This record gives sequence, C-alpha cells and structure tokens, in this order.
Amino acid sequence: MPEKLKPCPFCGGKVKIDSGFNIDFNNRAHKFYYAICLSCGARGSDADRKTEAIELWNRRIKFAKQ
Ligand SMILES: [Zn+2]
Repeated sequence: MPEKLKPCPFCGGKVKIDSGFNIDFNNRAHKFYYAICLSCGARGSDADRKTEAIELWNRRIKFAKQ
C-alpha cells in the first residue's frame, strides 16, 4: 500500500504532489516530483517517482518534529 502524504509540519496545511521538468546538458527533459504545502509553500525534495516524493516528505516531517 502506498504511503499517504502527511500534513505540513509547519502550518498543518494540506500537501500535494506536484511535478516539474529539469533540462539536462543534452537538452533532455527529466520529470521530477515533489511535495508542496498548499498553504505556506513548504517544499519537499525532488524525486524521480511520485511514491518517492511522498516518502521524502514524510521522512522530512519526522526530522522536523525531533
Ligand atoms: Zn505549510
């Protein structure tokens, strides 16, 4: 079962997964995913896959609460 996105640790707002493109030296586009808070704009790390972006966000929250 895929992990669910946890709410923002800073404002408690709703978080969603967004995506973007990086252009490399050969002008090729690479898609990446990241979690972003809809309220305060806090942003998670970039990941190659959606599920990875969710994991990175949730892991970040664990550290933010310590
Ligand atoms: Zn927030």
